[in-house]
Amino acid sequence: MPPSPPHSSLDRREFLTAASAAALLAAAPASRALAEPRKPKPNRPRNLIMLVADGMSTGSLQVANIHARHTLGRNLHMYDMLADPSITTSLVNTDCANSLVTDSAAAASCWGCGHRVNNGVLCYTPEHRSPEPIFVRAKRHAGKAIGLVSTTFIQDATPAAFAVNAPKRSMYRAVVDQYVDYKIDLIVGGGGRECSDEQLAQDPSITVQRTKTAFLKAMGTPGRHAALLADWHMRYEIDRTDAEPSLAEMSRATIHHLANTREAFCIMIEGARVDHAAHGNDAAALVHDMLAFDDAVRVALDYAKDDPETLVIVTTDHANANPGIARYGSYDRYLANLASAKHSFEWVFEHFRALPTTGRTPDAFADLFQRAINAELSTVERTMLNRTLDNRPADAFEEADNTTCVMGAIAANHFGVAFNSPNHTSDPVISLALGPGADLLPRVSHLTDTHDLIQRLFDLPPVT
Ligand SMILES: [Zn+2]
Repeated sequence: MPPSPPHSSLDRREFLTAASAAALLAAAPASRALAEPRKPKPNRPRNLIMLVADGMSTGSLQVANIHARHTLGRNLHMYDMLADPSITTSLVNTDCANSLVTDSAAAASCWGCGHRVNNGVLCYTPEHRSPEPIFVRAKRHAGKAIGLVSTTFIQDATPAAFAVNAPKRSMYRAVVDQYVDYKIDLIVGGGGRECSDEQLAQDPSITVQRTKTAFLKAMGTPGRHAALLADWHMRYEIDRTDAEPSLAEMSRATIHHLANTREAFCIMIEGARVDHAAHGNDAAALVHDMLAFDDAVRVALDYAKDDPETLVIVTTDHANANPGIARYGSYDRYLANLASAKHSFEWVFEHFRALPTTGRTPDAFADLFQRAINAELSTVERTMLNRTLDNRPADAFEEADNTTCVMGAIAANHFGVAFNSPNHTSDPVISLALGPGADLLPRVSHLTDTHDLIQRLFDLPPVT
């Protein structure tokens, strides 16, 4: 039986959900659902695997699924999960204390401490309180081993808000100090240039790896590990070489490491660059990172099949840039173009900056851009590109009047995928949960409900 803490906010929500469901059923015709036996009461989970595709709009899910069907001949695993009646689906609102549009720090803080906080802080309330983050409580009060895995720098907001209190998300040194102090068992991602071996050596039980080979070799060896596998962000999947592990490789290695070396664990795995690709209006980078994230979801599902005491949550922290297929008619040509893209926009900027100063011309930029999207630019497209490179207005919406958005709009002519801005949006997002207690996640929820669910199912003390 799951615990029933007297002050859990889920109690009231469950009541409301039940009342709403009763009202709907009273109005609805008799259905198959009425004849189905009630699900047995869930047991409490021992492990948590929480997978976060940062900044994944529902449009990103749809575009990536259409791309997956075109290139792989199948749906995303996440898409199939939506249709699985044994998996709980929730429509999640993401507003924070001071904004309808939420940044990753405030969003992950909702998971970390169950409170709406202001944008830009890590588990730090508007009243200047620092509630103990959820993974710290899981370690201290329930003895769970803790892992944080990300494709961006490990000091970034999403991993940090599971284990850190800070009034500013940019306090990277303080973030690592708290990872060390709170004895996080496993830290894997980028950010190596802002994290010295000396800082991590404040706890001599931490072993540091800085290559894929060393990281994979260390997994399975008991002890605390910090794998810093890139100076800052890890590569977009579309640009990744074998020198860096894929998110699925990182997930497989870390989940099995924790499962084989510890009694029970909680791990957060972030596909961070889904968010970056959406900010950059880069459809090709987006679908490749979405598929890489989906491969990591498969790893978690396979693990949970063998270890059913595992709660798996697949979700995101907020919508971003709302990509969507936005042209009528046959899509074969657009899907073929999208599948043929070679590199990210980030690759274009990197290679442009690497040119000698005299070579950094608008034509050189356009040539690199053409190589990345594997398409020839029209005269009009070159004119628009030149305008933005020359800092002249190229979009009437001031938020979108920048080079990457203009590149995204040009790419939309070839890929058929358009974005609404470079910014996060207030759109609700999707959360999927399976395993013991997953069906207690409200069908319409807020990010803070996921905190409350974890707190309740793992019998953690409430934040004060
Ligand atoms: Zn973002």
